[in-house]
Amino acid sequence: MASGERRYRSFYLPESRPHFARSRAFHTEHLKLEIEVDLERKRLEGRASLRIVPLRSLQRIELDARAMHISMVTLDGRECKYEHDNEKLVVIADPPLSPGAHEVVVSYSASPTQGVYFIQPDEAYPDKEAQAWTQSEAEFASYWFPCYDSPNDKSTSEMLITVSEGFLAISNGRLLSVSKNRDKVTYHWKEETPHSSYLNSFVVGKFGVKKEEVDGIGLEYYFPEGKRNDVTRYFGETAKMMKVFGELTGIKYPYAKYAQTTVEDFIYGGMENISATTLATTYYPDERSEEDFQVSYSREGQNAVNLVAHELAHQWFGDLVTCADWTHAWLNEGFASYFQCLYLEKEKGVDLLRRDMSLKAELYFDEEETSYRRPIVERNYVYPDDLFDSATYEKGAWMIHQLRYILGDDFFFKGVQEYLTQFSRDNAETNDLRKSLERVSGESLEEYFEEFFFKAGYPEFEVEYSWDEVGSTANLTVKQRQLTDEQTPIFRLPCDIVFYTRKGRTKRRVLLSSAEEKLTFELGSRPRIVEFDPEEWFLKKVKFGKSFELLANQLRESIDASSRARAAADLGSTKNNAVLAPLKEAALTDPSWIVRARALQALGEVGTEEALTSILSLGIPENRRVRRALARALANFKDRGGHKLLAELLLADESPYVQCEAAISLAKAQADGALQLLKKAMKINSPNFTLMEACLDAAGYIKEEEVRTLIMENLRYGAPSRARTGAMKGIINRGFAYEDEVAALKEILLRDKEFRVRYYVADQVAPRLAERRMLEELKRASVSDRDTRVRRRALEVYYELLRTAETISSIAKLGEEVEGLKKENRELRERLSRLDRPTDS
Ligand SMILES: [Zn+2]
Repeated sequence: MASGERRYRSFYLPESRPHFARSRAFHTEHLKLEIEVDLERKRLEGRASLRIVPLRSLQRIELDARAMHISMVTLDGRECKYEHDNEKLVVIADPPLSPGAHEVVVSYSASPTQGVYFIQPDEAYPDKEAQAWTQSEAEFASYWFPCYDSPNDKSTSEMLITVSEGFLAISNGRLLSVSKNRDKVTYHWKEETPHSSYLNSFVVGKFGVKKEEVDGIGLEYYFPEGKRNDVTRYFGETAKMMKVFGELTGIKYPYAKYAQTTVEDFIYGGMENISATTLATTYYPDERSEEDFQVSYSREGQNAVNLVAHELAHQWFGDLVTCADWTHAWLNEGFASYFQCLYLEKEKGVDLLRRDMSLKAELYFDEEETSYRRPIVERNYVYPDDLFDSATYEKGAWMIHQLRYILGDDFFFKGVQEYLTQFSRDNAETNDLRKSLERVSGESLEEYFEEFFFKAGYPEFEVEYSWDEVGSTANLTVKQRQLTDEQTPIFRLPCDIVFYTRKGRTKRRVLLSSAEEKLTFELGSRPRIVEFDPEEWFLKKVKFGKSFELLANQLRESIDASSRARAAADLGSTKNNAVLAPLKEAALTDPSWIVRARALQALGEVGTEEALTSILSLGIPENRRVRRALARALANFKDRGGHKLLAELLLADESPYVQCEAAISLAKAQADGALQLLKKAMKINSPNFTLMEACLDAAGYIKEEEVRTLIMENLRYGAPSRARTGAMKGIINRGFAYEDEVAALKEILLRDKEFRVRYYVADQVAPRLAERRMLEELKRASVSDRDTRVRRRALEVYYELLRTAETISSIAKLGEEVEGLKKENRELRERLSRLDRPTDS
């Protein structure tokens, strides 16, 4: 099926329900929490004091208080009646509350299974640090303190956290005091900027500490002692980022301090708790990986700089201005994701912004292909966390980028500042942003928002170009080929068409608004290059059939690296030896590593003997990312010369990620002795065992009995986390799972302590193998998993597998019917032939 005719799976499940911002009966002015955190018993105990102001006559004060034991409640200092059903705590005010502030104090204890995560070493992982950390987004704050657990109310907060001596407790705001009482220590923190409940946090553990001060703001880093030498590699750009974001938004970093704490087994990359971000320990680059670090070889762009920038940007987008309900979560995540790219642009140049945006586009396209298509602004979901997907993050970032293009930098940044100023310390929804941008620019954005935020998908273009010598005109036909339906429209948006003629580069902006546009441009001379949105301002797929000459010129002469890279990709897809010369030249001489790498990859895609000769004649590129492209390109060749080079890269390259790429290419190319090489490479140290993961991933392509043992050994609880993922990737690459593997995978899905591996089974292994043997376990995980992301994905995949099972059985049924028909036909024919046969008489 052509991509333009693709129908996407729906985001809606039978369990989906529409959600709207919650009604409030009171406002919480201040929260004071006094709790003792017991790491051994995985328990916390204490009291929560809430200063509330009723918004109407109020007799029943309803708080969210999940799975906790409540021992006493007082209202304005007097013990009072309450009802508690494990979800809600209703405090009875008798008589009803008078206007003005009142104080509710709840004494409670809890052993949370969500909201707070207690980490302890065990036999399988004896080196793990004892820690407790919170994760309150989306609605898990009420698992550790009673509160109004929705984003549309904001209060100041104060945390007094008591822990055993030797442990630190890090929380939001300013540290007021540390007091000792026998073998206990109490840390007293206070955040004076009002914020939503989900932004409250604490981390308890043993940490090394580094501090610096920038423009009166204290920057604090809390890290495992073993990572002391890598702290700067992780956080070194924080101060610079703070300055850049202050300038871009026109608003100085709004809180007293900024703490960044890395914790074990974190279930996200990071969480933007107000003024005290929590982050994963897996993002520490080491000396060897610093230059091209990424958390896993298979996730380009997932690195410390991007993560730190993302969470810091949230301090403005999400913390200072907060989405009014999760339907508008993209206001938090889209902006944080986009600002991380703006930092790249400011500090490292526009090519890096475009590169990162194109990685984002790939993630979003992948979500649409493997999961579903949905509008960014979405009310119908099962759990709020369902919305934290690529439509929210990656497409959200893209839609902001497009707004910048439509409005221009001046109006765009003014509009963003207007939005932040107007909704500071408050909540906002999608139309609030629209109005802010409209107010400063005068532009009506209603249609844009309707198409790009409230509807779904993206334009898929087919572009044709011809030159009319007589009239000296360039003619372009631009078709939008996406399948339109009630979700996906024909989009209306401006677009740059760029020509390079004798007079130089000319940019013409046109408005695309119908399924087919015929455009004519008068040019003085026949263009050497014709480009469609070469600066990559909008999210799209585009097929633009160009002549070899146009592509070769574009690869050589376009001023936009992104456009040169596209030309390289297009040339590579022709699989013709004529393209080797320009690709080789680009791979050697282009000033941008992005283009050199893409040209090398394209040489690999050509796949001929001559292409391999070209690749090998290039030598070993100095840039690590280009070497990775070299390793990737060599996967396409069966020739020994390529295999020898891959073996060298695998065992000796200074970049772990080049080694990973070489591992996969060796296996894909079915090189002799690949398995032995992989086993050797698995023992080489790399950050997060990424090389071990890649080797197991690669082993899946090798058809040798020994691979089975290797995979089983690394699937088990106790193996390094990334190796376990690698083993699962290996199974996926093989294309099927053996019975013992299925049993192990079921066990992981239902019982494993590690979120990431459970999620991987539901998210990748089950759907990719269409593993119907796991139907029952998927159904169970969709109800019982502690993480709603696993629950949601398991449910999605369960329905999908069920559907394919039904399709298969209906096809089988159809098959039976066809067989039946055939039989009838045969009998009929036989009968007829008997009739036809001349009778001997
Ligand atoms: Zn985020």
